[in-house]
Amino acid sequence: MTVQIQDSQIEAIIQQVMAQLGSANGANGRSPSPLPRAAHYRGVFATPDEAVKAAHVALARFRRVSLTQRKAIIQAMREAAIENAQKLAQTAVQETHMGRVSDKVLKNLLVAEKTPGVEILPNDAYVGDDGLTLEECAPFGVILAVTPVTNPTATVINNAISMVAAGNTVVFAPHPASQNTSLMAMDILNEAIESAGGPPNLLVAAAEATIEVAGELMHHPQINLIVTTGGPAVVDAALRSGKRAIGAAAGNPPVLVDDTADPVKAARDIILGHSFDNNMPCTSEKEVIVTAGNADALMAAFRAAGNVCVLDPSRLPELERLVLNEKRSGPNRQYIGQNACVILAELGIAADEEMRAIIVEVGKDHPFVRHELMMPVLGVVRVRDFEEGVETAVEVEAGLRHSAIIHSSNIYHMSEFGRAINTTVFVKNAPSYAGLGFGGEGHTSFTIAGRTGEGMTTARTFTRIRRCTLVGAFSAV
Ligand code: NAD
Repeated sequence: MTVQIQDSQIEAIIQQVMAQLGSANGANGRSPSPLPRAAHYRGVFATPDEAVKAAHVALARFRRVSLTQRKAIIQAMREAAIENAQKLAQTAVQETHMGRVSDKVLKNLLVAEKTPGVEILPNDAYVGDDGLTLEECAPFGVILAVTPVTNPTATVINNAISMVAAGNTVVFAPHPASQNTSLMAMDILNEAIESAGGPPNLLVAAAEATIEVAGELMHHPQINLIVTTGGPAVVDAALRSGKRAIGAAAGNPPVLVDDTADPVKAARDIILGHSFDNNMPCTSEKEVIVTAGNADALMAAFRAAGNVCVLDPSRLPELERLVLNEKRSGPNRQYIGQNACVILAELGIAADEEMRAIIVEVGKDHPFVRHELMMPVLGVVRVRDFEEGVETAVEVEAGLRHSAIIHSSNIYHMSEFGRAINTTVFVKNAPSYAGLGFGGEGHTSFTIAGRTGEGMTTARTFTRIRRCTLVGAFSAV
């Protein structure tokens, strides 16, 4: 016997489930638990379980939304992100005390404009005597997206556009230190979705943001895919969950400058890329390796640039004590994402906010070279020649396969370095952010899955390939 379920019946079931759930913001009914300040944002639920259930209810509705309407929803999300780019950037800096408002605005605009939408989803058709076979992109369902403090709104906007364009709904688990900003971004996008005729709660979150909540969500039976953007611990946790997980992890991008590079242009590009949002992007230049024939010229170009402080090596121990943790195994968190002038002030060097970075020569084993600092402090290592430069860069990138940059006019050197370092993002003769599609060709992504191999994620990454075959009832001629 075939059971026909009408749209009106599905809608009635959905209404019933929503009434039982009740979203934390009160829009859909009662609030079952006491709520923190996040409660007033659209899509925030009292518990992780309620958030996941609401995302499933939204998914059932979203399945019946046409592709044309899905495109309109994505367009509305882009417009809302552009309209609120400044407000979100300001809120992020206020909440996290990290980064630069002007750079965060650019990041928000970049993801709003250059994150691909529905158009990137391929459909392959095979037609012949045996009929028609389609291969199409189906959604995973409900995705858990764990997001970082370093890009608290750009990652939310980028993930939301990519995941919704692919037909999914999303449970966000933002970093606790940027929860308010990330939920504000989610709220703005949810409002845009609804204004374009989409269902409520395509994007949801639990009212509490902690590592424990993120862990609980990873093991929730109704989460269909985990996407983590952050350091090694969160990616490890996702990969241990036993579910399909996409891991966008930490990097330590080296920039290699060889004898054939234009030192003035290289210095300018390195300063721009390294200091963008105070060095918090995972793709930003984290250490410079320069060949002996160009090292003096590069250092002179840094000095002449005027917007960086080239520190006398005699001051290095003071700087180390300030910006490294006690074990010298990573940054002192207090200085992550701070303006260079804040760090310089501690050294008794006066500077204003136009000062973009502190540059200092060090050896290749120095912590400034070996560890991702995420602050505008840049170590420069001199090497004998190109071959030693490649070897050093590969060593300090440490197999993360994240990002690398080269400045050279020798095309052989560019290919040789690219093959040797084998990173997910490789930029030649430009600031690192060109690899994010900012001043470089191609789309953008703020979830760069080098660890699990998906690369610059897009809507396509968040789909399953589904084959649909019709035999006999269709003829090619
Ligand atoms: P983080 O690893 O401290 O936190 C990232 C997210 O993971 C947060 O939401 C946090 O709450 C959660 N988390 C952390 N440990 C967890 C655990 N054990 N279980 C469950 N959840 C956990 O990173 P961050 O400081 O927010 O961001 C900076 C890091 O992220 C840097 O290492 C940077 O390179 C990396 N990053 C990578 C990409 C990429 O696309 N590859 C993009 C941005 C940032």
